[in-house]
Formats: sequence, C-alpha cells, structure tokens
Amino acid sequence: MNFKKIDSQIAKLIERERERQETTLEMIPSENHTSAAVREALGSVLTDKYAEGYPGKRYYAGLEFYDKIETLCQERAKKLFGVPYVNVQPYSGSPANQAVYFALLEPGDTVMGMSLPHGGHLTHGWKVSFSGKYYNSIQYGVDKETNLLNYNEIEKLAKEVKPKLIWVGATAYPRFFNWEKFGEIADLIGAYLAADIAHIAGLIIAGVHPSPVPYVHIITTTTHKTLRGPRGGMIMVTEKGLSKDPELPKKIDKTVFPGLQGGPHENNIAAIAVCLKEASSPAFKKYGKQIIKNSKALASEILKYGFNLITGGTDNHLILIDLRNKGISGKEAQIILEKSGITINKNTIPFDPNPPFNPSGIRLGTPAITTRGMKEKEMKKIAFWINEVFSNPKSYLKVRKEVKKLCKKFPLP
Ligand SMILES: *Cc1c(COP(=O)(O)O)cnc(C)c1O
Repeated sequence: MNFKKIDSQIAKLIERERERQETTLEMIPSENHTSAAVREALGSVLTDKYAEGYPGKRYYAGLEFYDKIETLCQERAKKLFGVPYVNVQPYSGSPANQAVYFALLEPGDTVMGMSLPHGGHLTHGWKVSFSGKYYNSIQYGVDKETNLLNYNEIEKLAKEVKPKLIWVGATAYPRFFNWEKFGEIADLIGAYLAADIAHIAGLIIAGVHPSPVPYVHIITTTTHKTLRGPRGGMIMVTEKGLSKDPELPKKIDKTVFPGLQGGPHENNIAAIAVCLKEASSPAFKKYGKQIIKNSKALASEILKYGFNLITGGTDNHLILIDLRNKGISGKEAQIILEKSGITINKNTIPFDPNPPFNPSGIRLGTPAITTRGMKEKEMKKIAFWINEVFSNPKSYLKVRKEVKKLCKKFPLP
C-alpha cells in the first residue's frame, strides 16, 4: 500500500497533524492519545461491512467474526464497569444520550440536567440541543458562593418539578459527584437517574473517582476521553436499573437500532474492545492515579502564581481557571497558549458575566500529557510557562521552543 501515492494531500496533512501532536502539549481535558493497537483496529477491514442488528440477530450475511468481536466488546465492558447490560453501538456520546431520551421519554416530558454554562453538557437539556427543544428541560447549576453542586437545592427543585429523568455528569466540573445523594433524590420522586461519565470513565475504572454503579439506573459514556479509546459511545444499565425497569435493556437496544441508527461502526467497536482490554490492566490503574496526581500538582503550582481556580482546586483530571483577576480573557488565553504549543480551551465559568464566545475562563486537563508519561515535575514547568506567557505575551516564542524540547522526551504512543 502506498497511501502517499494514492492521496498525497491527505497523507501529507495527516503527517503534519501527527507532527503537531508530537511537538505540542494536548491539555484539553476531553482529549487523549490512543495506542497503536486501538488505531490499528480502527483502520482495519472491519470498516467494510454492514452489521445491522445485534450479535446472533443480524440482517446481513457474513458476520461470523463481527458477532464475536461485538460480543467480546460487550463482555469486556460489562466486566470492567460491573454492569449486567451494555450497548456498544452508539456512534458517540451525544447519540448515546439521545437514545436514552428516546427510550424513556415522550416529547414534552420533564427532564433535569446541569446547565451548560455551569459545566453540564448540551444533551442534558440545553436549549439549542434536541434535549432542550423537545423536552420540558429544567436545569440545575452550582452554588453561587462555592461553585459546588448544592444537593439540597437540587432536591428541592426535583420535588417541585418531578422530572421523569435526571442527568448527572459534566464537561467542566472539577470535583467528585455525590452519586449516592443523586440516587436518593431520584428514588424519592421515582425518576430514572442517568450518570453521564463521558469525561471520567477512565478515572472510575482506575478507581480514582467514585463509581455511580450502585446508585444510578443508566450510565452513558464516550470512549475517547479518559477511557483512551476511539471516538464512540456506550449505554449501560445497572442492577439497580434492571430492578426498577426490567425492560430497560430491550428499550435501549430497540432505540439504538432501528430507532436511531442503521449499521453499527464495527471497526469502532473492535477498537473500543481493544481499549477496554487496555483499561483492565494494572498499568491503566497507575495511569489513572497519575492523571490525578498531575492535575493536583498543576493546580497547586498554578495557585502559587495567584490564579483563581473554580472551587479552589480539583478532585479529577481537570482545572477550571477564572482569569478575571489576570486582565486576560479566555479567548486571548487560548490563542497565546496555542502559539506557545499548549492546547487548552476557553470556557465559561459559572455565572460568567462575559459571552460564551469570549468567556472569562479556561479549562485544562492532564489525561493526554499523562499518557505521554509526564509527571509532577513536568506540571511545574507547564504552570511556569502558562504564567510566563500571560504576564509577558512576547515570551511565547521562547516558551514554544521549550515546549518542543520537553515533548521530544515524551513521544506519542
Ligand atoms: C463529551 C461529552 C458528551 C458527548 O460526546 P460526543 O462524543 O462529543 O457526542 C456527552 N456528555 C458529556 C458529559 C461529555 O463530556
């Protein structure tokens, strides 16, 4: 095979992207670097065939090995997360969440989720998403004083609006979730409780974030964030979910296919199976522990330079910085850091007085740089560079050089 001969333009662009990744620090908390094994499964002949249906009940012929692969993926996910049911076909996190709505609710039903500007996800009822448009979405947020979830307020709201479904999960919340408390609230009003662990799935597997399994009915996740697999999604049902509604697995299977999707992307499913195998190794537990050590080290270094961290620190893989005392906007910060070789993203902070396209904060995380093998010592350097380019934007070229030098010592997987 000679990819470069067949399509030199795309081959060249991929090569350049590889180089960009090699020479910069990926610090967007939702991102990671996959293993060569995951990428090999993803780029295999499994992309060639249709496999509508589920293992043993397909609509197409020639699927002997596809069935074995999807079954293996399911078995690995069930074992790793400790759940009796999983669907591994959703194309990504948002379609997985959409399937949960379609399986459980009718349009107009009441649903509760964390609002996007406070750290929730679009699909948890935000107004521009299907979830806010076609359902009666009631949003909860964080406390104005502490920026933490206020469980008493959430309970009060839930009792008042009686949602049929409650979502817990976030894209920019630096603290643990109290799953047990959410479980109590949902049980009190008879609601379904869904944990969206897209960001933290890998941390849960590594045992460094509490698991929602005993307390929620349904779990959705992406497979490409801390779990470190290919882009994809999964929906799980817990024992608690089965005892509330034994029909849940059937409802979800039927909704994913034929309700929402056609043929599953089996190359993706094979790559998810590989990532689940990797995630069940002792090395992955160590990886998860190091993600947390790194983000705590980074947070404490950044604090030393007088930055304001939302909630004062972090329990997980991400840090949210309020830049208002530093005279730089989230957008400006993102641009100058990108020029320095540090990729982060601008982010709203709770109760942000500024608009979402130029918010007051930035969000940064350690999953990808921890995959490269970086530790506390490197976090110290990174915090220094971040402070340096914010204090003196002209220093970005110097920092860019130093970032490149550091990256050389920590090759991509
Ligand atoms: C990333 C994320 C999703 C959506 O995943 P996509 O793959 O981008 O559709 C859903 N929920 C949460 C909490 C997320 O962080």
